[in-house]
Amino acid sequence: MPCFKCGARQTDPVRGASPWKRGVRSDHLVLVCPDCQAAPDWAAELDQCAACASTALICRLGEVECRACGHVRDVERDSDDLVASSAPGLSEDVAQALARVLKGQRA
Ligand SMILES: [Zn+2]
Ligand SMILES: [Zn+2]
Repeated sequence: MPCFKCGARQTDPVRGASPWKRGVRSDHLVLVCPDCQAAPDWAAELDQCAACASTALICRLGEVECRACGHVRDVERDSDDLVASSAPGLSEDVAQALARVLKGQRA
C-alpha cells in the first residue's frame, strides 16, 4: 500500500520497526511514509479517536480501534457500496436472475 499523501511505495523494512506509520482516514487504513511524517501537520488528515483524539487508530473489518485508549467504533458502510446497491435496476436484475435460478431448481 503506498503513502496516502505522496503515493510513495513502501520498501522492505531493513530490520526493526518500519518507519512508516499506519492510520485511518475516512474509515480506511492508510500508510504514511517517513518523508510525509516530517510535515508538522501530517496527521491532520487522519481520522481521530472520538474519545481521546489520538490518530493512532487501526482499521479492522467493520470497526476502528484506538491504540491509545482502546476505544472502538463501528465503521459506517462504505459509500461505494451504497452507490452500487442503489444503482437503478441492479437489484431488480439480481432478483430476477435469482428467481430464474430458483424456478430452474424446482423444475
Ligand atoms: Zn509520503
Ligand atoms: Zn482513543
